[in-house]
Amino acid sequence: MQTAALPETEVLAQRARTALERCGLARLPEPVGAAGTARTPITGQNLFPLEHDTPESVGRVVGTAQDTFASTWRDTPAPERGQLVRRFGELLREHKADLAELVTIEVGKIRSEALGEVQEMIDICEFALGLSRQLYGRTMPSERPGHRLMETWHPLGVVGVISAFNFPVAVWSWNTCVALVCGNTVVWKPSELTPLTALGCHALLQRAAEDVGAPADVHRLVLGDAQVGQALVEDERVELLSATGSTAMGRTVAPKVAARMGRCLLELGGNNAAVVTPSADLDLAARGSVFAAAGTAGQRCTTLRRLIVHEDVVDQLVERVVDAYGQLRERIGDPYQEETLVGPLVAERAHSAMRSALEQAEAEGGRILVGGARCLEKEAADAYYVEPAVVRMPEQTDVVRQETFAPILYVLTYRTFDEAVRLHNDVPQGLSSAVFTQDQAEAERFLAASGSDCGIVNVNIGTSGAEIGGAFGGEKDTGGGRESGSDAWRSYMRRATNTVNYGGELPLAQGVRFL
Ligand code: NAD
Repeated sequence: MQTAALPETEVLAQRARTALERCGLARLPEPVGAAGTARTPITGQNLFPLEHDTPESVGRVVGTAQDTFASTWRDTPAPERGQLVRRFGELLREHKADLAELVTIEVGKIRSEALGEVQEMIDICEFALGLSRQLYGRTMPSERPGHRLMETWHPLGVVGVISAFNFPVAVWSWNTCVALVCGNTVVWKPSELTPLTALGCHALLQRAAEDVGAPADVHRLVLGDAQVGQALVEDERVELLSATGSTAMGRTVAPKVAARMGRCLLELGGNNAAVVTPSADLDLAARGSVFAAAGTAGQRCTTLRRLIVHEDVVDQLVERVVDAYGQLRERIGDPYQEETLVGPLVAERAHSAMRSALEQAEAEGGRILVGGARCLEKEAADAYYVEPAVVRMPEQTDVVRQETFAPILYVLTYRTFDEAVRLHNDVPQGLSSAVFTQDQAEAERFLAASGSDCGIVNVNIGTSGAEIGGAFGGEKDTGGGRESGSDAWRSYMRRATNTVNYGGELPLAQGVRFL
């Protein structure tokens, strides 16, 4: 644990104001109606009050976004739409440090991770710009002479984006940059824990729109809690709802969108595991595991939560991991300090979830090998800093099968590779997975259809830290959605199949004769 004093809340509030001003937000939306607050987990205190939206104001915002879609944006050529994300990417480069500042203040991410998150936004802007000239449809041979058969992709309309606190800018940008290039307009409801970061992003995107002559209402921001999100969920004009957050949130949201025949893209909780086999490079496995498990204070959807280790190497691996965790203990604290590796948990609820998971793990036969204690309580009574924990479990019990959004790494052992894969897949979630092995056959078995059942399957690299080039998302309780790179753009468009008769005759398909 670090002894350096934590920054004062007032200082953080001033830093946040400065960053927002630099992004182009002259004035914060001060509360006149529904009141919310901006807060920092670094001290656990409120920064300043903010105006929140209401279901009525959300309705008005969706109306404006829909008008803009219908009147201009859907018919703007895609490469021209690409110019908006090109300019946005330029502004992000210019204001990378400002947005990273807001991410650190609101989420408590250490500087390099906050900067890394903004870098992901820059990367997706580049990807989306290229995509604006590649929204390919296929042409296939028609069975009828003098006919052409092809597919065209069209935008959907208003895309609602509901985002989680832990990736307050990257996940929104994956959705928004791709959705905009595809010709949709976007209404964003960020986490109630990260309104400032959202205001900074929105201000930059508004500037980009102005600079390239795009309508300001291609993107609208609504602030508030689940109730405000609910208004987006229930609005029939929101053609696609992309929701990132807990599985519990997805379970509430998905049936409501389905009931109105809307589309849903769900990015929900994970319970990610790495299998470590006897042939693995144990130094590599230990390093990969420690970053994946303790980075971002265990608050990534792809955080490593289960280590499934062959019984012949478990003691050697655990020794390395516990040793690294011992070093981490000295590097918990103020995320602004260069040497800090573990910042705060986002809020009290995360700490109480961690406490009760550790108690349950012990009751289920687990042994805490390192960590778990709260730190810096005297320096900041309202903030929640914790030592990342490693817990050896006798088997995959109930607590191991659930996602606790905090830095707890459960260690399990196996004898046969089949058993490892069975254990790996025997959880409700299916986001990210890894195998550490030097045995090619084992690596291939993990990647095969009967191997890992996750959306992300890695070899000799941890579960976290995806790149934007691939499609991101997971199976089972993780919700099945895919975002970001590859062909994830298709979720933001509708497909039209076109048959064109240029032959002058009217042959019917399948040889049918009529008149
Ligand atoms: P959360 O579910 O508490 O909230 C997420 C968002 O949903 C917030 O904006 C919240 O206001 C909104 N919301 C909650 N209930 C709602 C409802 N009934 N209707 C409409 N909106 C509602 O999640 P969190 O604590 O912010 O984030 C952590 C969770 O998100 C973890 O489970 C993590 O694994 C998951 N996550 C998943 C991914 C992914 O890509 N799979 C990425 C980041 C986070």
